[in-house]
Amino acid sequence: MNIVKQLALDLTALLYPNLCNGCGTPLVQGEKQICIKCLHDLPFTDFQSFADNKVHQLFWGRLHCDNAMAMLYFRKGSKVQHLIHRLKYKNQTALGITLGQMMGRQLLAADGYCGAELIIPVPLHPKKEKSRGYNQSKYIADGIASAMGIPVSTTHLIRQKETTSQTKKSRYSRFENMQYVFKVSNAETIRNKHIMLVDDVITTGSTLEASGTVLLNSGIGKLSIVGAAFAE
Ligand SMILES: [Zn+2]
Repeated sequence: MNIVKQLALDLTALLYPNLCNGCGTPLVQGEKQICIKCLHDLPFTDFQSFADNKVHQLFWGRLHCDNAMAMLYFRKGSKVQHLIHRLKYKNQTALGITLGQMMGRQLLAADGYCGAELIIPVPLHPKKEKSRGYNQSKYIADGIASAMGIPVSTTHLIRQKETTSQTKKSRYSRFENMQYVFKVSNAETIRNKHIMLVDDVITTGSTLEASGTVLLNSGIGKLSIVGAAFAE
């Protein structure tokens, strides 16, 4: 690279530095999306190390998943909420990949997840994906895939119904709201396979319950649920 080009790049980096998605300070060499201080402060759950963790308990009696975890605790006003907000609404798709890679490295070191054969991100309704421009969970899935060497599919699980906000609904109306939301296509190509279903934030679990149920009903062999964050 010639010196003029290098100077121009350095100047661009000076004027438009890559900022940490957690605290807004410029990132230094070797840091990706999140600075080392923010990384150090993140509230990791370590759920991948415990079979009866809170995410797994959330699905007891609702969805038969072989493994379930979320990487971070999500609390209102926290750095994790800020990160997820930037991933979902501020086009910070590379942050999704970085979070996914962190998850993938944790899952590689945990029992139960390594046998997964296909990663499926929870799809948005096509209309919503069009207005947002992307599905944040797809980027998390891509990050996990790159760390674990497992392929991603966005064609097997289809969202065919738009849903209204879940948070203020009772458990039964959430269930009603989620019926017939998802369908599986090409079921024969995932029959008996171990599927890893990926979401950004696990809150009530209704979306994962509905999408996981159609996958199980289509004949998959095993289901692992993974989320970037868990809101208690
Ligand atoms: Zn930071």
